[in-house]
Amino acid sequence: MTTGKSIVQPAAAELSERLSGRVLLPGDDDFAQELDGFNQITEHSPDLIAVVAGAEDVREAVAFAAARMMPISVQATGHGPSTAADGGLLISTRLMRGVSIDPATRTARVEGGTQWFEVVEAAAEHGLAPLNGSSPLTGVIGYTLGGGLGLMARKYGYAADRVTAVEIVTPDGRSHRATADQDTDLFWAARGGKGNFGVVTALEFGLVPVSQLYGGGLFFAGEAAAEVLHAWREWTATVPEDLTSSLALLRLPDVEAIPPFLRGRLTVHIRIAYLGSAEDGNKLVEPLRAAGPLVVDTLADMPYTRCGEIHNDPTEPIPYNERSMMLRELDEAAMDTLLTLAGPGADCIDLAVELRQLGGAVGRPPEVPNAVDHRDAAFALSTLSLPDNRPPLVVDGMAAWGTGRRYLNFLASPDTADLTESGYEPATFARLADIKAQVDPDNLFRFNHNIVPRPSQA
Ligand SMILES: Cc1cc2nc3c(=O)[nH]c(=O)nc-3n(C[C@H](O)[C@H](O)[C@H](O)COP(=O)(O)OP(=O)(O)OC[C@H]3O[C@@H](n4cnc5c(N)ncnc54)[C@H](O)[C@@H]3O)c2cc1C
Repeated sequence: MTTGKSIVQPAAAELSERLSGRVLLPGDDDFAQELDGFNQITEHSPDLIAVVAGAEDVREAVAFAAARMMPISVQATGHGPSTAADGGLLISTRLMRGVSIDPATRTARVEGGTQWFEVVEAAAEHGLAPLNGSSPLTGVIGYTLGGGLGLMARKYGYAADRVTAVEIVTPDGRSHRATADQDTDLFWAARGGKGNFGVVTALEFGLVPVSQLYGGGLFFAGEAAAEVLHAWREWTATVPEDLTSSLALLRLPDVEAIPPFLRGRLTVHIRIAYLGSAEDGNKLVEPLRAAGPLVVDTLADMPYTRCGEIHNDPTEPIPYNERSMMLRELDEAAMDTLLTLAGPGADCIDLAVELRQLGGAVGRPPEVPNAVDHRDAAFALSTLSLPDNRPPLVVDGMAAWGTGRRYLNFLASPDTADLTESGYEPATFARLADIKAQVDPDNLFRFNHNIVPRPSQA
């Protein structure tokens, strides 16, 4: 047996002696604060928390939990919770920060609790950039293990495609440095299989030579949604891979924290990241600017360090559900359906309904194969809503255009926990379940988008 309050107190004292970091128990002053994450929809209730200070602490903490068959959960920023931690040991990585850049090889080594803005800033000193996503506040590890669909995705692929080494402590308490040449199954599985195979203490990955881009947002009044959605869809078929864009239907509340032009109304927000000059960028976006009356236009040359301004994602914690569906294609009928589901006058409660254009490098397999699928998807659809009991009407309503697969990084909340299998092609999922059976046969790492261990018949 494992957990149970009677064994927790002495066990916590024992673990505390072995760590440079801290051990917290329910009732300790900082316990609730340490659990606080960005998406407050998931309420974790572990038996104890190890606030680890480095890779050696992680090894100690995992070995400690494994010896007691305690389930282990991991939290960095809390941007991507799924299954709530119910008992066991929660490893909080938020003290494990650290970025080193090697400009000669254009690589970064990043420790387990680092957030993207730290890498963006460190890489920019060398005229380089990582493949971060829309929010600079998300954790590097959670984002990358789920694939990592970034601002330059069409040009450079998924973040996981550029990972060259995964330093990970597996459930048996051993540290590995998985690469294309060693621990190859683990290397394949960790890049896409999310947090199922252990605690990642550091990642190494390639950077790209980008210090500047043309980007920002075009905001249109919701009344122009039909014209803008159709114009954007047609336009996406014409743009080069140097340009990655997305479109969101925003229904933001009428509160002071929101800019006045977005408050309490429907707005269409097109986000652009173009790796070229402002002159060429302006020519490329001409058809979009002409699609409807613009409310705000922030497109301009910008240093890559300002990349968070492209989406302007929320920075304050809130509770929300996020759902997703990968789309094979978007035709005119798809856009009309989306307008019926989420356009002006629709009975839609989603704060954001987002379409990201894929294709280009995210449509091609990486040099070193990994567990990130979706190479056949043309667009990623996701929705974000405050907690409610409604079914995901928009995502379900677009199923006719779906690949049948979901992007796990865009599934957040406990009620997405049973959707893990839909994140993968059947062969990928079977191999992940087989590797899970070898690496984590007792499924200690189960408070995540869980891959249940299933040995292959071979
Ligand atoms: C505002 C916002 C914007 C986003 N934008 C994008 C985007 O542009 N592209 C994209 O692909 N995704 C995006 N995401 C999704 C985000 O990448 C995922 O939610 C990711 O899981 C967040 O990781 P985290 O460590 O910050 O979150 P956490 O909630 O702390 O971690 C999520 C999960 O990741 C795993 N994990 C984290 N750290 C480790 C570790 N060291 N070892 C093992 N497992 C670990 C665990 O299973 C954990 O449950 C966005 C999310 C938000 C809220």
